[in-house]
Amino acid sequence: MDFDLSEDQIMMRDSAREFADKRLKDIAEELDAKATMPDELLAETGELGYFGLLAPDQYGGLEVDMLSYALVIEEIARKCAGLAITLSVHNSLTIGAIATYGTDENKEKFLPKLATGEFIGAYSLSEPDSGTDAGSLKTTAIADGDHYILNGTKNWVSTAKWAKVFVVFVLTNPEAGSKGISCLVVEPETEGMSLGVPEKKMGLKCSDTRDISFLDAKVPKANLLGEEHNGFKIALSLLDNGRIGVASQALGIAQEAFNEALSYSKERKQFGRPICDFQAIQFKLADMAMRIDCARLMTYRAAVLKDTDGRYSKEISMAKLYASETANYVANQALQIHGGYGYVKEYPVERYFRDARVTEIYEGTSEAQRIVISRDLLKD
Ligand SMILES: Cc1cc2nc3c(=O)[nH]c(=O)nc-3n(C[C@H](O)[C@H](O)[C@H](O)COP(=O)(O)OP(=O)(O)OC[C@H]3O[C@@H](n4cnc5c(N)ncnc54)[C@H](O)[C@@H]3O)c2cc1C
Repeated sequence: MDFDLSEDQIMMRDSAREFADKRLKDIAEELDAKATMPDELLAETGELGYFGLLAPDQYGGLEVDMLSYALVIEEIARKCAGLAITLSVHNSLTIGAIATYGTDENKEKFLPKLATGEFIGAYSLSEPDSGTDAGSLKTTAIADGDHYILNGTKNWVSTAKWAKVFVVFVLTNPEAGSKGISCLVVEPETEGMSLGVPEKKMGLKCSDTRDISFLDAKVPKANLLGEEHNGFKIALSLLDNGRIGVASQALGIAQEAFNEALSYSKERKQFGRPICDFQAIQFKLADMAMRIDCARLMTYRAAVLKDTDGRYSKEISMAKLYASETANYVANQALQIHGGYGYVKEYPVERYFRDARVTEIYEGTSEAQRIVISRDLLKD
């Protein structure tokens, strides 16, 4: 497999790096403290085309290859992991759902606005009693003429505050369990739909996360994505796509934490020498760099496989699992290299440590990834 980046891929990576350095680096701490992102930043991100990375060209998107997509998410995550996950959910889960499973009418209606960032997208599978066991969700959508009537509560919806398009998984046949799940596009103006309050999170604070509830909310049948009752398969296939974004986000956090630790280890002196002179610190740096390299190769492999082979479920689970564990390992070691200064907000490693944590939880926990990988290994 060839990992040499093409000129276009290098250009995508470098322009995302420039945006992250010039626009995100200096405000990331403030966004974390205020736990929000200004509308102007989202608009600027849209102008650069990043909300349309995976949107088809015919609907105004950039329609980049998956490796370019991974490179952009990684660069943005290096400076602002919250914006990175907003872009990832929007592109791989929401645009991915409509572009792959939407009718022409759905595509015409939603994709042009999603591609520019005028509309921001959310993906709503989880519920208070249905997380890893996503097939046990309870929100119902009962057919009534040309509409479904939705009742229930979804939780942990990333980007809900800004979203104009929610891809929501509901039970259209409650007796059939996971075989009765369908996937709908829901707009926030829908009567009977309401947003909860923002979650007070440990990290990724500038990305919005909250519940959404439905009380006799009427959604047109025309908003069905894919076939009725086929929603569980759709949810799982979209999560494969989403995991490329999460693995790239984890990689960006890990890389930046490493960079901070490397430069701090050269500046900080103890016993009259920079701490990077001590073998204990050198070995930490070596292990961190090795794991990042490995996570990067695995993530790029999965991204390339998605475009070339189409079968990448095991590989992306491996990459997401390894990259997220690497982000946590590296952020933890980076904090250790900073000593007490890593434990306070004076240096950004404290934020990377908090931001890294959730990459092992959302879009399938580390345990869930191990289930996917081992099932694939044992299937024959
Ligand atoms: C910040 C944030 C943003 C999120 N954004 C979204 C979003 O936009 N849309 C969305 O739909 N969801 C979102 N989620 C939800 C996320 O995907 C779930 O939290 C995740 O799938 C785990 O579900 P749970 O929290 O209910 O944990 P549970 O499923 O209750 O798991 C608890 C623990 O048990 C383990 N476990 C469960 N089942 C098994 C098993 N069979 N074998 C071994 N171990 C098992 C888990 O790995 C975990 O360690 C978000 C979560 C967070 C924290």
